[in-house]
Amino acid sequence: TARRLAHIPPTVFSEMSALAVRTGAVNLGQGFPDADGPASVIAAAAEALASGANQYAPGIGVPALRAAIARHQQRHYGLEVDPDTEVVVTTGCTEAIAGALLGLVDAGDEVVVLEPYYDSYVAMLDMCGARRRAVTLRAPAFRLDLDQLREAVTDRTRVILLNSPHNPTGTVLTRDELQVVADLAVEHDVLVITDEVYEHLVFTDAASAEGHVPIATLPGMWERTLTLSSVGKSYSLTGWKVGWATGPAPLVQAVLAAKQWLTFTSGAPLQPAVAHALDHEPDWPAELARDLQVRRDLLCAGLVEAGLTPRVPEGTYFATTDVSHLGWADGRELCLALPERAGVVAIPTQGFYDDAEAGLQLVRWAFCKDADVITEGVRRLAAAD
Ligand code: GLN
Repeated sequence: TARRLAHIPPTVFSEMSALAVRTGAVNLGQGFPDADGPASVIAAAAEALASGANQYAPGIGVPALRAAIARHQQRHYGLEVDPDTEVVVTTGCTEAIAGALLGLVDAGDEVVVLEPYYDSYVAMLDMCGARRRAVTLRAPAFRLDLDQLREAVTDRTRVILLNSPHNPTGTVLTRDELQVVADLAVEHDVLVITDEVYEHLVFTDAASAEGHVPIATLPGMWERTLTLSSVGKSYSLTGWKVGWATGPAPLVQAVLAAKQWLTFTSGAPLQPAVAHALDHEPDWPAELARDLQVRRDLLCAGLVEAGLTPRVPEGTYFATTDVSHLGWADGRELCLALPERAGVVAIPTQGFYDDAEAGLQLVRWAFCKDADVITEGVRRLAAAD
């Protein structure tokens, strides 16, 4: 393995899902829903397959999907996006992240990232040779430490890499918090890359009463922001791997410059179906969020029953707990022992921190699973010794 990859361990999501399959444990680890997305969208994909959408799509994405993404940004956020120059379709948000970082960050550039970070950010930053500065969302509240952020963003910063709603903590940044990020970005002439895949999965009791706020909507931010999202989480189609980036043409061009050498293009028959989802099932994600909030409460109540005190997430489909309440000093050790002792799999989040202390005892539980799966998982936890 090349030196730029050799020090990066296999992704914990695959590791823990494999553990669940091997042991037959209830999988509250990797974030994929038990139930598929809307039937009309799946029918649209079948129709596209049957009607011959089986050769390369344009690298930038099929026109119908780019137009639907532009309408989505208009409808939800009032953003005017040119579908021909300000949208690029990617192979999931993961490729949008890769394309954005490879396209905009040079070796030695500084990138400010929230920690706990989604693991692919750091792998990509390492592949780019970037220097990262992590700003910590600290337990138990997991809010953004604005003073640490002010220290981290300097004239050496090239990019602030944001994620809100935030995986794994469930924090949704408020307009006031985002304004601090925006002010720093403008002051230091920094780009913002923002992963908003959980944009529609925000609960009614979030601190941000207005729900998800894209930082691109703040004054002065459109021209310096790349906004990334996907169909995976909003429409429960994580296996389709259709994502996108929107932003000013030069930033979208930078993503495309890298993307053309990564996958070039993908998902030709899926792209028209995703356009169908955005245009014809606009209310589906909000219904999913309402339904998820019930399952969130079911999971959190069960975790309390098992002796844990989850931070009730404001968005996403994950809840994080400090497992020292169960007498475990190390969350990863607990997660490795848990299938055997309780028949449950969860994700240790210590690997998502540079500050090893801050994450040592934290474990993430997914509630995008069927209610009876969650009920069985927490029953097993409460019964374990
Ligand atoms: N995004 C999902 C999660 O956080 C899946 C991650 C993955 O498998 N790479 O669990």
